[in-house]
Amino acid sequence: MTVAENLVKMKQTIEQACRDCERNPDDIKIIAVTKYVSIERTLEALQAGITDLGENRKEEFLKKYESIGDQATWHFIGSLQSRKVKDVIHQVDYIHSLDRKSLAKEIQKRAEQTVPCFVQVNVSGEESKHGLAPEDVENFVESLKAYDKIKIVGLMTMAPHVDHEEELRAVFRKLRALRDIIRDKNQPHAPCESLSMGMSNDYHIAIEEGATHIRVGSSLVG
Ligand SMILES: *Cc1c(COP(=O)(O)O)cnc(C)c1O
Repeated sequence: MTVAENLVKMKQTIEQACRDCERNPDDIKIIAVTKYVSIERTLEALQAGITDLGENRKEEFLKKYESIGDQATWHFIGSLQSRKVKDVIHQVDYIHSLDRKSLAKEIQKRAEQTVPCFVQVNVSGEESKHGLAPEDVENFVESLKAYDKIKIVGLMTMAPHVDHEEELRAVFRKLRALRDIIRDKNQPHAPCESLSMGMSNDYHIAIEEGATHIRVGSSLVG
């Protein structure tokens, strides 16, 4: 399938999900996750109308950035080692995986402009997953007040690999509730309006639960 064909289908699914919950499809940003695919396929996605790309590893991101540069908005969605921050910080537009103070400190040290970041939350509590425990997120966000190079634009989570719809919904709902709490504090450094959640298998559910950024790889470009 071409990316354009996949995108047509995907937009239909998004529109259906939006009808079901009375949302505007324009409020949902599609991030095409290109970590498994070639530069050619990535360019095909841009041709098809994709504007935002997601990568989860430094090396692969830089390789693609070299050829594509500012033709795309770049989202770093994978766990980021502090020592690699300096290599990507001037190229990325968003970081979705801010999950610890040491990483925040490194971003503060290396960035020349304010970097929009999502705080990654391990809602499901699986040991294999990165992210802060939900109960630690409020304090973490508070603790970033003095970091003028970091703007908390939202929260991000990876849902567990389960088919059980209610279990997925519960995860997405919990992230949304946490987002509401932080957003409603109206802190200048943490507008926290966005929700980065939903992947190939579950983005329609994530949209119904309030996702503003969906990160879709295999079903779109794979
Ligand atoms: C790979 C990846 C995705 C996309 O996963 P698909 O199931 O291929 O859509 C989304 N988010 C993160 C953080 C990823 O690493």
